[in-house]
Amino acid sequence: MIALAAAVLGLVIGSFLNVVIYRVPRRHSVVWPASHCPECGEPITPRDNIPLVSYLLLRGRCRKCGERISPRYPLIEALTAILFGAAGYQFGLSVGLLSALVLIATLICLAVIDLEHGLLPNVIVGPCAAVGFVLSVIGDPAGWWVYIVSALAVGGGLLALALSYPAGMGMGDVKMGGMLGAFLGPYGALAVFIGALCGALVGGLLLLSGKIRRRSALPFGVFMALGGVVSLFEGPEIVALYLRLVGV
Ligand SMILES: [Zn+2]
Repeated sequence: MIALAAAVLGLVIGSFLNVVIYRVPRRHSVVWPASHCPECGEPITPRDNIPLVSYLLLRGRCRKCGERISPRYPLIEALTAILFGAAGYQFGLSVGLLSALVLIATLICLAVIDLEHGLLPNVIVGPCAAVGFVLSVIGDPAGWWVYIVSALAVGGGLLALALSYPAGMGMGDVKMGGMLGAFLGPYGALAVFIGALCGALVGGLLLLSGKIRRRSALPFGVFMALGGVVSLFEGPEIVALYLRLVGV
């Protein structure tokens, strides 16, 4: 039941994330004006603004001008719904679930914006890191310091990398790393590690196939977001598996 409710909530939030993803990098307000067709400017009526359903009914075209609507919109709504549903299933009704939902929504926004624009906006990372920290402390009051130490350690580690290798990493990556620490505690470091592994793998493949010239052309935020989602759901299992493998 909670998983289903979370998935439906995910459709609605996913629809809002589309607005954030489109408008924040362009410095438009996310609340005003109401959604409109980017091609003809026609406002989108409530009946055409139902997540997933409207896209299917309209067959992916604007009702007014017939211009194709990017499949990115329904894909982000579906992805948000799936991850929200999975979080509802895993965490149940708890502060941990609220934290998980905020983190998932934030990571989807950051990943798509980084992929498209190569930036991780402070107006998203900053407030979300603060919310993440507050939720972490509410869920685990005795361990409040763990989240501060984790945010500083993960952010600091990335800062050292960014300073020694400026071409490969930006300050946005550093702040996003700190945000992951605020949400996930020590598993924030695992998120960055998984992100780096995936980034190296994908980067290597793209280099070999000649699709990119330099590995630094890859947006690291996308891979950190992937690592963040994996760590959120499987962090303790991955660490336990690793410890068993090394025989601790
Ligand atoms: Zn239109």
